[in-house]
Amino acid sequence: MTSIQQNIEQITSQIEASQQKCGRPRESVQLLAVSKTKPVDAILEAAQAGQRAFGENYVQEGASKVAHFSEQHPELQIEWHFIGPIQSNKSRLVAENFAWVHTVDRAKIAQRLNDQRPAGSEPIQVLMQVNTSGETSKSGLDENEIFALAELISSLPNLTLRGLMSIPANVSDYSSQLAAFTQLANLKEKLVQKYPEQSIDTLSMGMSGDMEAAIEAGSTMVRIGTAIFGARDYSNKA
Ligand SMILES: *Cc1c(COP(=O)(O)O)cnc(C)c1O
Repeated sequence: MTSIQQNIEQITSQIEASQQKCGRPRESVQLLAVSKTKPVDAILEAAQAGQRAFGENYVQEGASKVAHFSEQHPELQIEWHFIGPIQSNKSRLVAENFAWVHTVDRAKIAQRLNDQRPAGSEPIQVLMQVNTSGETSKSGLDENEIFALAELISSLPNLTLRGLMSIPANVSDYSSQLAAFTQLANLKEKLVQKYPEQSIDTLSMGMSGDMEAAIEAGSTMVRIGTAIFGARDYSNKA
């Protein structure tokens, strides 16, 4: 077994242990393998170990990996998630290549992704990015803005609103992590009630250092890079 396979097995059992500990059903938390900066060979190894969902942060890099796998390995049926910041001049490549986008944070981007989705493609599965402060007393959430964006997304035919994503402040104590994630989970419940016709079922939250708290708060997708693929080398990134 390769080390990437071993790492995936180990994380999968950590996810299962966390689910069990807080009484959540098995397989209620999906593993998103964050493959930014990693070569296609590493992705291939992970995919051959059964991993299906991969997250990319950089538009061009992600688009070229999508092209590579759709040409060389269509049988793997990789599901590509865009999890990086989106500049409006790069939105077309995102709309053309990714099944999921986790980082929709403003109306202009939602509109462009909708308009630039190629005809005949499935709608893009969209998460709104909400950054919680980690301190419940000083909420960084502006609910009005989130609801206005949800209203727009749910009106666009080429987007399907699936939920929320967050990258919380980097805090190491469990109760602060849990508080921030719970805030997000509560917000998702409000959205479910307001938009019962959308399929809002996803909370993309939890990374290597805060996965347990995220799962306890209701995460349905944890985003893990380094623990699968090893440390990243940014020396060739601007
Ligand atoms: C890079 C990244 C991750 C994964 O981070 P690791 O520390 O490598 O596990 C998760 N989410 C987002 C949005 C990222 O950019």
